[in-house]
Amino acid sequence: MSSPVETVVIVGTGCAGLTAAIYTGRANLNPLILEGSLPGGQLTTTSEVENFPGFPEGIDGFHLMDSLRKQATKFGARFEQAQIASVDFSSQPLKLRTAEREILTKSVIIATGASPRLTGVPGEKELYGGKGVTTCATCDGAFYRKMDVAVIGGGDSACEEALFLTRFASKVYLVHRRDSLRASRIMAERATSHPKIEMVWDSVPAEVLGVSDGAVSGLRLKNVKTGKDSVLPVKGVFVAIGHLPNTGPFASALDVDEAGYFIPQPGSQVKTKVPGVYVAGDCADHIFRQAITAAGMGCQAAIEAERWLAEHGR
Ligand code: NAP
Repeated sequence: MSSPVETVVIVGTGCAGLTAAIYTGRANLNPLILEGSLPGGQLTTTSEVENFPGFPEGIDGFHLMDSLRKQATKFGARFEQAQIASVDFSSQPLKLRTAEREILTKSVIIATGASPRLTGVPGEKELYGGKGVTTCATCDGAFYRKMDVAVIGGGDSACEEALFLTRFASKVYLVHRRDSLRASRIMAERATSHPKIEMVWDSVPAEVLGVSDGAVSGLRLKNVKTGKDSVLPVKGVFVAIGHLPNTGPFASALDVDEAGYFIPQPGSQVKTKVPGVYVAGDCADHIFRQAITAAGMGCQAAIEAERWLAEHGR
């Protein structure tokens, strides 16, 4: 028996995917939402979200995503755990393949987000996850009570991670490869003026120490101006150097740039070269990368999909 053809499949359950789910659900398109390894997306690993409009006191990232999910469910969105392995967009119906099955659909909204980047220095991979190297202070910060830790990066994420870690750690070294932060002024000021945070300027990680012990025992740094090596005696290393777009399984079927981000059609943020296929959120946006802009793109993609389906006799 052949699989039924879905009307719209949304891949991803971050801000973009869930907003698209709310809009397509409310338009009676009965969307199927595929969720991957991090249901709720990057905001579920964030602490307080202070800049999402409508929440003057701020809102916990997990609660925000949970609310969006409940709203989507209210309008009939169906959720399924699935990891897309490959796609075939050469003809209708469009095909999405997981390890277990093939999903047929008339339209797709890809909102797969982006994943944290790592530095690639020796020891990082070996000590990643539970052994002292991590990309999520919200998830792992509490394990570093009264310990010294290092955060690598100079953007808003690095400052946010460093500030969050001050709740637990004795001392937080913020290691940045230049002598000024990329982060917004408010975040940079909070981080640089915090008594528990020590800035380590002009420095890049060279090696995470502790592989033979099975746990981080230090971070070897190189000063990019003097060339000198030094070692920070830390038990935790938090990497916050940006993200990689999760576009791999779709990259051969759609246009992507050198960094892997989807390139939308001229004049649109969400249309792709394949009719009926739309992109939204961090997988297609290397400029703004905000929860609210991802939600906006999810809304645009949903409305475009709805119009396209109406024009092509859904
Ligand atoms: P980002 O702004 O791209 O910053 C990445 C940082 O990592 C930069 O300081 C960069 O250095 C450094 N870096 C990159 N590759 C490196 C390497 N191989 N070794 C050492 N350092 C490296 O990324 P982000 O901080 O994740 O922020 C992404 C977006 O989310 C931004 O638009 C940000 O404003 C937003 N965001 C907002 C909030 C908030 O408002 N609360 C919180 C988190 C994120 P250079 O500066 O030298 O390039």
